[in-house]
Amino acid sequence: MARPILLAVDDDISVLEAVVQDLRRQYGQTYRVMRAGSGQAALDTLEQLKTRQEPVALLLSDQRMPGMTGVDFLEKAIEFYPEARRVLLTAYADTEVAIRAINTARIHYYLTKPWDPPEEKLYPVLSDLLEDWKAGYRPPFEGLRVIGHRWSLRDHQVRNFLSQNHVPYRWLDVAGNDEAVKLLTDSQLDADKLPVVLFADGAALVDPDLEELAARVGLRVKAEQEFYDLLVVGAGPAGLAAAVYGASEGLRTLVIEPDAPGGQAGSSSKIENYLGFPSGVTGADLGRRAHVQATRFGAEFLTQRATGLRIDGQYRFVQLADGREVSGHVVVLAPGVQYRKLDIPGAERLAGRGIYYGAALVEAVACKDEEVFVVGGANSAGQAALHFAKFARKVTMVVRGDGLSATMSKYLIDEIEKTSNIVVVSRTQVVEADGEERLVKVKMKGPQGEFEVPASSLFVFIGAAPGTGWLPNSILRDDKGFLLAGPDLKLEGKLPESWREQREPYLLESSVPGVFVAGDVRHGSVKRVASAVGEGSIAVQFVHQYLAGF
Ligand SMILES: Cc1cc2nc3c(=O)[nH]c(=O)nc-3n(C[C@H](O)[C@H](O)[C@H](O)COP(=O)(O)OP(=O)(O)OC[C@H]3O[C@@H](n4cnc5c(N)ncnc54)[C@H](O)[C@@H]3O)c2cc1C
Repeated sequence: MARPILLAVDDDISVLEAVVQDLRRQYGQTYRVMRAGSGQAALDTLEQLKTRQEPVALLLSDQRMPGMTGVDFLEKAIEFYPEARRVLLTAYADTEVAIRAINTARIHYYLTKPWDPPEEKLYPVLSDLLEDWKAGYRPPFEGLRVIGHRWSLRDHQVRNFLSQNHVPYRWLDVAGNDEAVKLLTDSQLDADKLPVVLFADGAALVDPDLEELAARVGLRVKAEQEFYDLLVVGAGPAGLAAAVYGASEGLRTLVIEPDAPGGQAGSSSKIENYLGFPSGVTGADLGRRAHVQATRFGAEFLTQRATGLRIDGQYRFVQLADGREVSGHVVVLAPGVQYRKLDIPGAERLAGRGIYYGAALVEAVACKDEEVFVVGGANSAGQAALHFAKFARKVTMVVRGDGLSATMSKYLIDEIEKTSNIVVVSRTQVVEADGEERLVKVKMKGPQGEFEVPASSLFVFIGAAPGTGWLPNSILRDDKGFLLAGPDLKLEGKLPESWREQREPYLLESSVPGVFVAGDVRHGSVKRVASAVGEGSIAVQFVHQYLAGF
């Protein structure tokens, strides 16, 4: 594979030379470093590279250049290489410019001059950005292939699982695709039994369950140790924070998570309000970074779903979907919430066949040049609509309320208003979904009464509910299933009778001592990434206090 390119742009030749030298010194082995003396020259270079299909990973541009500013160049460069990381070099006084750059050129970072020493001021930032780029980059394909039907739930689940776990694959829709049919015939596989996952060595998995697939692509499904100090259920922001703090403070930590780390945040195309990321961060990147961080501190991750919790004296056992059990002293429950399903005729049958819940960003490419519908008016729906608008011909947001202002953050509303292919239809609800093999049309009800529209993809973001049914009754919850912890365990000032300890429960402790609760699943929690991260971190402090009482 050709080495991906880092392109430096500056009209000041001596500065350009210095940047290029610094880039070569650190990245020369893996990347090809190129230069351009102006914005226009850089755009010409990008055009040629694009024609030759060469990968570009990073654009590092000075701001103050005659003819075309760095922001203008980076904005135009999006057309050629939307995925390349865009970094602006500004003088210290150019913060205003940098903010404008975030909004218009969607830059990923701005660096201030001078950047000496590069080991401190340049490389850490660029290495991080290049890691992010690599995680999303799909080199010309040599590995795993998934052959299936676009309108099959199982196919959707397999692709979603691989994408979320950053396993590169190529998807072949069997409908009208000669290559897919030939591959199936060559491998003597039945076209009626899909999806099929084909590996580079010729091996195939037919309609695999996700654990089988996880094991085959090298994800861990069996715990390495007999016993842990801390078992964390869920690797969303709350669970990941508990894992980072737990492992970094010396606790033997095991995280149980059936999907890729990142949780609901992983399904968000861009989180723009998380502290320290002025240009926003995709949920998947945040999850991947936290996963690396926790692993570096020694936390272990299992690709498994927790299906039960058993308490035996001072030991806690988490039961897993494959029938195994893992044991530890303390459990942090951070399983978040799951998307609420549409309760209308046809919705259940067509789930995964045109109706998708939440983490369906993987479908975006398949919707290229089509019209898609997004149901819901909160931030999650807004982020999804903006994401789909990059691929789809038209995105129609179906909103039950009068508009978006009561339910969505202003920065998202502004973005939606600026995006010409998003239309918001308010005071309207989807009341029926229709189609045999796949979604074909939906019936809606608006101020003018009921009407039908053809629809092939409907993405639903209508709130979420906790999936806590698998926990024993001894873990108390509210009437919606959210888990009670700390002071919320008291009813009219009294702790439940089942609480036998001499002490009060710790702030995030559930009704069972040594079982803590963090994040969205907790009764009364603030549904934000930052608060989930905060609770996961704080829970570890109480874990220490609990363990100190042994
Ligand atoms: C599309 C979208 C956009 C959002 N945008 C923003 C935003 O811009 N800013 C912001 O602050 N917040 C945003 N949020 C909210 C934010 O993502 C959540 O508040 C946050 O993710 C909650 O973290 P959590 O760890 O508590 O739960 P989750 O993120 O829900 O993670 C829980 C994890 O537990 C796993 N799990 C569930 N059950 C089990 C089980 N039985 N066994 C093992 N694992 C299990 C799940 O697979 C999941 O990975 C957004 C949410 C969505 C859906």
